[in-house]
Amino acid sequence: MIDFTLTEQQKNIRDFLHWFAETEIRPIAREADRLGDVPPGFFKKVKAMGISMEAIPKDVGGEGEGAGEVKDRRGQRQTNRLSVIASEEMAWGDPAVVITLPGPGLGGPPVRLIGTPEQKERFFSVFRAEEPRWAAYAMTEPEAGSDVAGIRTTARKEGDVYVLNGTKTFITNGARASWNVVFATVDKSLGRAGHRAFVVENDRPGFKVTRIMKKMGLRASETAEFVLDDCEVPADNLLGGEEHYQRQGKEGFKVAMATFDSTRPVVAAMGVGIARAAMEYAADYLKQNLMLDRPVPAYSRIRETLAEMKRKLDAARLLIWRAAWMADAGLPNSREAAMAKAYAGRVATDVCTLAVELMGPEGASRDHPVEKCFRDVKVYDIFEGTGEIMRVIISRRVFQALGEAG
Ligand SMILES: Cc1cc2nc3c(=O)[nH]c(=O)nc-3n(C[C@H](O)[C@H](O)[C@H](O)COP(=O)(O)OP(=O)(O)OC[C@H]3O[C@@H](n4cnc5c(N)ncnc54)[C@H](O)[C@@H]3O)c2cc1C
Repeated sequence: MIDFTLTEQQKNIRDFLHWFAETEIRPIAREADRLGDVPPGFFKKVKAMGISMEAIPKDVGGEGEGAGEVKDRRGQRQTNRLSVIASEEMAWGDPAVVITLPGPGLGGPPVRLIGTPEQKERFFSVFRAEEPRWAAYAMTEPEAGSDVAGIRTTARKEGDVYVLNGTKTFITNGARASWNVVFATVDKSLGRAGHRAFVVENDRPGFKVTRIMKKMGLRASETAEFVLDDCEVPADNLLGGEEHYQRQGKEGFKVAMATFDSTRPVVAAMGVGIARAAMEYAADYLKQNLMLDRPVPAYSRIRETLAEMKRKLDAARLLIWRAAWMADAGLPNSREAAMAKAYAGRVATDVCTLAVELMGPEGASRDHPVEKCFRDVKVYDIFEGTGEIMRVIISRRVFQALGEAG
């Protein structure tokens, strides 16, 4: 049974991260946005506090491979529930700073899912360094984003190495990463069955960062393009090893998709966090600045708009928590993760737009953080699968279910 009551541990983590977001993240957010980067001293501080991309303090198993197995007092896995609670709270502080926090980030799930014990140890051990370290997930290419099956990066086996060639684009933390999980094909004619996931260390010859994207929002987050030009990696860097793919035909593709089942609710939760901040900024502004002769809630347009914002965000959060709970319970959740992402991506964008509108011209002013929420939130309906693609996934599952029933 789904229980939405937060445990003491979950509440403590949420409250700690709220404090962290308010006292450590928000004060640097505007400057980071202006610079297009996060001040480096910040990462050291965060590392010392034990906070990584997964946003779970070390004492409950966060960071690196340990984040895969956080359990509640009843022994139930709660990693995904904690991740969505934590992500919402931190994105309320600032999303660009949060997705730049040191740690394996999106590169972590594929290694956890199919990496051999030796690979997990080798690739996660870099995060034990004193200096902050990152990893990244590289699927998107100039010619293949939504159409994941169409990736063109190739991997050619030569003796005990693979030679990779291709371009990956729009990769979060792709340049600062110690390693990228790179999806490539060993044989295009095999379609999805030809997909493989490789860990490519950024210091390999043939790995070259070619561009850092300039963006409307999430400006402090690094979004990189890189090329692999006859880039050799040891065969041991093929995630899961050769035999893994012989056993499971479309495993490379499945791993890419399974990653999304756990990360889409997290991304959706970040969208809700940004929009919650925008709603609070707008409500606070109205309270402070409108010279009204009645209390603000008495104005029906304002009242209705705030109610709509709150209702949509709560509904999104419930979809997110359900998807996360299913992931923790080991239940298939592709449809629910897509529903959470599709709904949250859309309503978070709507809520930020309404927040700007409620404030009038002030909402569009660079002097107020709500315009930054408006810029930052849009990408939450794009990355990790666009809203349109989420709706394709959901409708496909609806038809599948009808087919099974009929
Ligand atoms: C800030 C940012 C960070 C990112 N980080 C990463 C990362 O870390 N790793 C990574 O691999 N990628 C990353 N991406 C890439 C992102 O996942 C892709 O941009 C996204 O999947 C869309 O792919 P595309 O850009 O090729 O657009 P396209 O696939 O070309 O889509 C263009 C438009 O067509 C629509 N469309 C496409 N196919 C269909 C269809 N079948 N039915 C209906 N509509 C369709 C899309 O919804 C979209 O509106 C990032 C993107 C951004 C903006």
